[in-house]
Amino acid sequence: MLKTVVAFGWLVVVALNPTAASAWGYQGHRVVGAIADQLLKPAAKAQVQQILNEVDERGIDLRKAAPWPDCVKSVVRHDDGRFHYEVDPDHLEFEVPCTPFNSARERARMVDYAARNWSTCSYTPDGFERGCHNTFHFVDIALQRSYFDRNFQGTNPHDLVATITAAIAVLQGRPIPPPFPFSIKDKKEALLLLAHLIGDLHQPLHVGAVYLDANGKLVDPDTAHKVDPDTDAIGGNAIQDGVAIPFQAINLHHEWDDIPPDLGDAATGELMDAAKSVRASEGAPEGWPAAWATDTLLVAHDAFKSLSFKPTQPPAQAKWIVTYDNHTDYLQAADAIKRKQLAKGGARLAELLNAIWP
Ligand SMILES: [Zn+2]
Repeated sequence: MLKTVVAFGWLVVVALNPTAASAWGYQGHRVVGAIADQLLKPAAKAQVQQILNEVDERGIDLRKAAPWPDCVKSVVRHDDGRFHYEVDPDHLEFEVPCTPFNSARERARMVDYAARNWSTCSYTPDGFERGCHNTFHFVDIALQRSYFDRNFQGTNPHDLVATITAAIAVLQGRPIPPPFPFSIKDKKEALLLLAHLIGDLHQPLHVGAVYLDANGKLVDPDTAHKVDPDTDAIGGNAIQDGVAIPFQAINLHHEWDDIPPDLGDAATGELMDAAKSVRASEGAPEGWPAAWATDTLLVAHDAFKSLSFKPTQPPAQAKWIVTYDNHTDYLQAADAIKRKQLAKGGARLAELLNAIWP
């Protein structure tokens, strides 16, 4: 469904796909890619250009590449087991960020990637089978935690941090460390993943998660040593905004995917200045995905500050409804957080690629 909604004080058009958990709309991913494009050093820039433009492509940069793993979500599995890239005639707007990949060759690459990463895990968030590659975009660490640890609930071998770690290994020419169940067939696939997933890693609701009881009170899956599916707010996808748009359900996750419209879909001077002042990461690049997940988890604490939840009445697709201590203050804080996170994502994508190709 395409819905016109008022969110964050601006009129924006939001594609509401109840199963999509894309982190940042394509604009946000392009912004992250565009910032990184400008911060690449010559060696990394040459590698990126060569890998992304292997045959007949021209001018694919990180900005254009970044939406790719969301474009893959148009690959469907038919009952006969065959995979196919399907353009939804009712939602041609989904194709806008995917035009750089609309050649037969690139469509075939997406189908091949989705098929190889479809059954490597079971993912049925809404009762329907989704390809495993859909899980590569997020990790759901409980908000009660203050750092990322693979022993915590909400992590798994095919989560966002694991996928980034695997993609880094492929770009470094190392084997993907077991038991990660990925099929990343070449450096181009790895780079297409990284260009997107480093953006996802900086969307607070793709890292920090709330688990809620039937009354909307926070529960702790780590104390229980398991995630009760009834408490899983699916990264905010199961939490409806109770204020912004009566009768037009937009969920908390999608509110955080939207970026301030004045940013467009490229790097602004404001964001470039912010990106250049992001502190350098410490240690070896292999440790950065977990460190950055910790950083974003702490940002998620702020993203959930002053929110409370109650069950939807009557029961709806979204199990909970969110209310704000002060909505205006919240929107202002969210706007500032988003700008900072986009700048960090772009800076760190470049930092990582500059470290892989010094
Ligand atoms: Zn994503």
